[in-house]
Amino acid sequence: MTEPTTNESSADAATAESKAGPSHFIREIIIDDLKTGKYGGRVQTRFPPEPNGYLHIGHAKSICLNFGLAAEFGGKCNLRFDDTNPSKEETEYVESIKENVRWLGFDWEDRLYHASDYFDQLYEWAIQLIKAGKAYVCDLTADEVREYRGTLTEPGRESPYRIRTVEENLDLFQRMRAGEFPNGARTLRAKVDMTSPNLNMRDPVMYRILHAPHHQTGDKWPIYPMYDWAHGQSDSIEGVTHSICTLEFEDHRPLYDWYLDQLGIHHPQQIEFDRLNLTHTVLSKRKLLTLVQQGYVRGWDDPRMPTLAGIRRRGYTPEAIRAFCGRIGVSKTNGVIELSLLEHAVREDLNKRAPRAMAVLRPLRVVIENYPEDLVEEMDAVNNPEDAAMGSRKVPFSRVLFIEQDDFRENPPKQYYRLAPGREVRLRYGYFIKCTGVVKDDQTGEVVELRCSHDPATRGGNAPDGRKVKSTIHWVSAAHAVDAEVRLYEQLFARENPNDDSEGLDFTAYLNPNSLEALTGCKLEPSLRDVRPGDGYQFERLGYFCADPDSAPGRPVFNRTVALRDTWAKIEKAQKQNAG
Ligand code: ATP
Ligand code: MG
Repeated sequence: MTEPTTNESSADAATAESKAGPSHFIREIIIDDLKTGKYGGRVQTRFPPEPNGYLHIGHAKSICLNFGLAAEFGGKCNLRFDDTNPSKEETEYVESIKENVRWLGFDWEDRLYHASDYFDQLYEWAIQLIKAGKAYVCDLTADEVREYRGTLTEPGRESPYRIRTVEENLDLFQRMRAGEFPNGARTLRAKVDMTSPNLNMRDPVMYRILHAPHHQTGDKWPIYPMYDWAHGQSDSIEGVTHSICTLEFEDHRPLYDWYLDQLGIHHPQQIEFDRLNLTHTVLSKRKLLTLVQQGYVRGWDDPRMPTLAGIRRRGYTPEAIRAFCGRIGVSKTNGVIELSLLEHAVREDLNKRAPRAMAVLRPLRVVIENYPEDLVEEMDAVNNPEDAAMGSRKVPFSRVLFIEQDDFRENPPKQYYRLAPGREVRLRYGYFIKCTGVVKDDQTGEVVELRCSHDPATRGGNAPDGRKVKSTIHWVSAAHAVDAEVRLYEQLFARENPNDDSEGLDFTAYLNPNSLEALTGCKLEPSLRDVRPGDGYQFERLGYFCADPDSAPGRPVFNRTVALRDTWAKIEKAQKQNAG
């Protein structure tokens, strides 16, 4: 199969990347439509968020799909706020959504729309349906409407108001619009089929009375269109060709089709795909709002949140998220993706790009007794072994250093190759050192300092006599170290599926109490003194870290983006399992 020519000039880096990954059924549909000239060779998509919360990683899947496919086929993608629900929408959400889409690397250019832009047109179309005898004003209460609707096994009953004349309907609808009736007094309903097996077709409500100001239209409207009445027509107005949405809208498609056919207007093709679900994660906006409002996290951009604002603060990159979305693809069945796959994509991207640095999170003092008191040497350290172009930097070495507490054991267990009494290891970019003594706290017996000697012939990390050491550890010079706070994160939910309510517990019952560990008194190499929020590094042997907006000049705060795979941790775990 030959792919149609792509308009490369309009495809930016983001789009070129989102082509990576396996092809999928939506791409195949578009390729077919282009072949048959179904929409005159046009591809028009849109991303339609409801501005009632922050975007999350699930939305990223939809964004990458809609913007990615449009650009791949030389088309356009609009950003449209589906803002039919005035009471839930806030300007804060609108602004964050725009920022997040841009951050992900996509551009709606001048095509920023709102469903509320179309309220006048939707109202006109409602009048058209009334005149055609296809819509009526109904006085049933919300409860009665529900009761009349029937169930999956029982047909619905027709509303007694269904037989109102066109004149009466027009009069009542215009008075609804004029604000004559209180909230909930009446609705406008489509006259479809109360016996349809599809509940969405049983005379769905098109308009409700709601005296509430709207963030776009102010006090203009006392009636608001229902989402189902607004959505398909908004797509139609925008000339959308492929209206891509998640699977739960499959049952709504017949209704959208019905509206478009009754009105005789441009008919986009709706295509449903599977929502992203991730292990250890909740993606419902209602649940995310609960976490924020009840203070389980520090805000929408808490680095533990699956929101784009949160994972950005955590240090996830747009490149990694786009690669992840390309890799998971789309399908017709809902599943659950392992959180570790997302973390893998983040590691893979940062490994290529993040400059390396040395940082000690839980410091243990090391005094090199045979190193001169006042000597400071500038050691050459490679910035990124994956990318020679990133060059090298100087790291100061001196007599007193910090190493990780974890890199020393007084009584080393089997397969533990790091520092121990009498043992020699390599200090990365430094010297071989050997542990010659241990200083303990009188009271607690805790090891507080190591006495070591270095071999001056091993400068740079190699012994001229060819002798080997089994371990290389990182370090920071005590006199030059920058004090920092470092925040370590674990999964926000301990349980793989926090959405499972089979035990009758609220999802918050499954929050991981250890999801945040804030370490103070961490020691960083001096090049990290003045990092800016968002700067990302690989701290050698520890993982990827990103400077937090809480950083102050000379007082960095870092978030751990994702840990490296720690081989010792794996061995230790296996040993424990064997023992237990
Ligand atoms: P929620 O049910 O949490 O309120 P939503 O689907 O109502 O989420 P919208 O703002 O309406 O959120 O979503 C905008 C677009 O993003 C829709 O097209 C929706 O299908 C898509 N989307 C939302 N969540 C996901 C997800 N987890 N995976 C893929 N696409 C998603
Ligand atoms: Mg929605």
